This record gives sequence, structure tokens and C-alpha cells, in this order.
Amino acid sequence: MEAQMKFNFYSLDINEDYDPAKQLKKFETMSEAHVRRRRLVRALPDFGEPGRALAERLTGCGFFRCRSAGCPVCLRAFRRWWGSTLAAYMSRDPDYWFTVSIVPPDLFDVGHLHRFRWKLLKDRLRNQIARSQVNRAIFLGGMDYNLVHFADDRAPRWRPHLYFLVGGGGQGLIEGAFRRHYPRDEDTPRPVVVTPQRTEDKDLMTTATYTFKARFENRRPCRDRRGNVDTETDELALPHQAELAILLDRQGFLGRAIRHGEDRYLPALTVR
Ligand SMILES: [Zn+2]
Repeated sequence: MEAQMKFNFYSLDINEDYDPAKQLKKFETMSEAHVRRRRLVRALPDFGEPGRALAERLTGCGFFRCRSAGCPVCLRAFRRWWGSTLAAYMSRDPDYWFTVSIVPPDLFDVGHLHRFRWKLLKDRLRNQIARSQVNRAIFLGGMDYNLVHFADDRAPRWRPHLYFLVGGGGQGLIEGAFRRHYPRDEDTPRPVVVTPQRTEDKDLMTTATYTFKARFENRRPCRDRRGNVDTETDELALPHQAELAILLDRQGFLGRAIRHGEDRYLPALTVR
């Protein structure tokens, strides 16, 4: 807890050339973040004492920023720093980066997202990296959350998953590091997906900010126009956003982040 409070990303530099707020049209505006925060403050008190406490913290976020990872305004500021730092770093040698999506099988009922043990998930990932052939690569990213809806009549469930960038290694080696740890099942057709990262500056910023999303989605199975199985997404309903905000607040920014590797030119790997 204390460690999270020391980390003040508001005081860190943002490289303007890679600032997603200036360079990406789709990046959330300040006023969108404020609207989102106001809505959360209204919805949070329905979630007991943790909800009321977070609502109070967000209400107090003004000249002195609350620095909660559940606060849309502070999350936007963090994403600017995180996105610009990662994109600027990748741009120095953009040809050897891959994006990795890992979807663990664990699902959580609505109202029970607090049971998610993210530290355990991160510990396992750290061990998987350490024992793999890509243990010297740089890993940077974060956790994402969807509410998964099913084709049958099961109730929707939360699905925490990982999305990160890997610098070094190679597609086959990265897949080899994770495939055997994350089995495929009926609800998880593609548990590990590794893709070469595109190299334009805009692509670097888009992916870097995408590793630490601010807008979370429902995922619904559907059929495309040819009748093939596909997925459609839309934004979470407000009560679900509020439940997630309580978890994000507990996690903190660095708790949600995936960081592995050493490079003295990238303090983002070691900042506490
Ligand atoms: Zn705030």
C-alpha cells in the first residue's frame, strides 16, 4: 500500500512526440474522464463500505489528485505517462516487439470480482518467464477485464486477462513460453496469442495505451455475416464499471502493470 502511494506519475515527464493525448484521436479527453468519474461516484455507494470509501476518495480528487487506479481522471494521467514512455522506448528499435494476449481460464461471478488474486497470477507469470527461453526479454503491459457473456443461458462472468508487449525473443519462443501453461477450453478458444507489433509511431502509442485500458467491455458471442462464430463488444454497464473500479483501486497502477526485464534506460521497469 505504502509503496503505491510513493509512486507519483504526475511528477514524471511525458515525451510530447509520443503523448497519446496529443497524438491519438481516440484517446479519452479530459472531459470524458471527468464525466466517467462523476458517474462512478454516483454508482459506487451501492457497493458497501469499499464503494463508499472509493466514492469519497474520487470526490476529493481535484487540485490534489487522488491517485487512485480506479479514478478515471488519474487513470488518464497514468496512461499518458505509461503510453508515451513505452512508445518512445519501443521507437528506438521498433522491429523486435510482439504483443501477447494471455487468457487464463479463471472466471468470477458478478459481485465476486474481489476474489481475483492478481498477485498470484503475476507470480505465476514471473515464474513462467524465468523458466522460459525468453527470460532475458523486456515485458511491459497490464491486466485487462471483460465481462464474458455466453451463448447458453449461463450468467455473465468476469474474466481478468493479460496483455503485454515483449521486446526480444521471437514469436515461436514467446508462444513456447506460455502455451503449455494456459490450456484451451470451450470458453477459451485462443488462450495465448502472439502477434508481431507494427512499427509506426501511432501503432506503438496505440498498443502501449491498449496494454492499460480505461474502457472495459462486455464480450458477447455472435455470428458474423457468413454465419461464423464471432465476438461483439460494448462498454460495461455502470454498476459493473463500479465493481471493477473497486478492484482497480485496490490493485493500484503498479499492481495492475506487468513489468519484467532490465534496462537502465527504462526506469519504468523499476519505478516504485
Ligand atoms: Zn483521481
